Amino acid sequence: MITSPAFKDRKYAILGLARSGLSAARSLVAGGAQILAWDNDEGARAKVADIATIADPLLSDLSGYDAIVVSPGVPINRHPIAEKAQEEGLSLIGDMELFAMARPNLPPHRVVGITGTNGKSTTTALVHHVLESAGLPVRMGGNIGLPILSQAPLPSGGVYVLELSSYQIDIMHTLACDAAALINLSPDHLDRYDGYEGYMASKARLFEMQTGHETSVFGKGDTDTERVYRDVLTRRGAEFVHLVDPQSVSGQEEWPSLQGPHNLQNIAVAIAIVESLGVTEAQWRPAMRTFKGLAHRMEVVAERNGVLFINDSKATNGASTAPALAAYPRVHWIVGGLPKTDNLDECIPNFGHVVKAYTIGEAGPLFHELLSPHLPVERSEMMGTAVHSAAAQAQPGDVIMLSPACASFDQFKDFEARGDAFRAIVEAL
Ligand code: ADP
Repeated sequence: MITSPAFKDRKYAILGLARSGLSAARSLVAGGAQILAWDNDEGARAKVADIATIADPLLSDLSGYDAIVVSPGVPINRHPIAEKAQEEGLSLIGDMELFAMARPNLPPHRVVGITGTNGKSTTTALVHHVLESAGLPVRMGGNIGLPILSQAPLPSGGVYVLELSSYQIDIMHTLACDAAALINLSPDHLDRYDGYEGYMASKARLFEMQTGHETSVFGKGDTDTERVYRDVLTRRGAEFVHLVDPQSVSGQEEWPSLQGPHNLQNIAVAIAIVESLGVTEAQWRPAMRTFKGLAHRMEVVAERNGVLFINDSKATNGASTAPALAAYPRVHWIVGGLPKTDNLDECIPNFGHVVKAYTIGEAGPLFHELLSPHLPVERSEMMGTAVHSAAAQAQPGDVIMLSPACASFDQFKDFEARGDAFRAIVEAL
């Protein structure tokens, strides 16, 4: 566990006791803090009953407290805890901020923070893999894997590689990443922000926390990321701030788990990050080849009769589906779920790669209407129907891909369950 003497005799209220909240509770108490903790779920509360005062911070007198730790899932743009924090003069923080507070007492180390609308997990896992292959002590955390505070601290010279969602950045105030990266930007999570501008401003805060000689990396490819890049460049100077062009990377064809133009962007960002930490090309090149990729992201689940089956269930918006379509020339595209927008505009440039679309879920009727002027569409409704129909029609060399461009919650618990369902249906064919 990572903890800190900085927590000693402090008082924190915690709202949300899922994984990151629970790890924050344990780390704070181990460091000598007193905590008051709450979760609407009784089972979650029971897990801290022996170390915390169980009470709802909204209904508690928080005078004398140092901050309120909220889970990234708490929508602080509309949840009453934000008003409560303001009334009490307390800041809202998350486990990443507690990690920032613990840093001065950790052995000398560096921190990488990776954000963006799409590609965060892939890029984080890739940076982790490259650093590990280069022989550095490394841990991965944030929005991926185990909560960072529940992991063992690294020895001197280690690197913490953190995937940071905008929700996590919103509750961070002092985490100065030695290398921070913004991969790309497109509208997402607009229910949590004051418009797209608010969402972009949230991402930009990651770079505002860098005040010294840290590196800032931006993926080239969209005008909004370049706008943030220019702002940061003006403030911090060209020595530390880099816009990286995916087109400058060669050798992608030799890296099987990093196909598609989107992955080229992730690769370019990852290279800039690891090089800023002193890793050489001779070290990162072989590591690109051995990277295994992540489940549910352009994951090849089977090949049958010359047809590849690809699970890209993690593509929950049009911007992440678009490059997946671009990665293969003849795609049978299983698309739909709970729509986040009323269009598929970002995918239009790649419709030429689609042999046929099979719509599923709540978005089915809408997507059928949107797609049928451009390409053949079948209204499958259910994943099983879509996979069976596509498998019956695909020719050798074709790809059958689940890349839904939608959230999963209409028919599945989450995107993992959706991807698992796809895999199970394919395996049973
Ligand atoms: P995140 O953690 O940001 O959600 P992931 O790495 O899990 O990102 O990828 C999510 C989805 O976005 C996947 O479907 C993947 O194919 C797609 N994707 C990955 N990298 C990019 C990128 N750079 N640009 C657009 N889409 C991407």
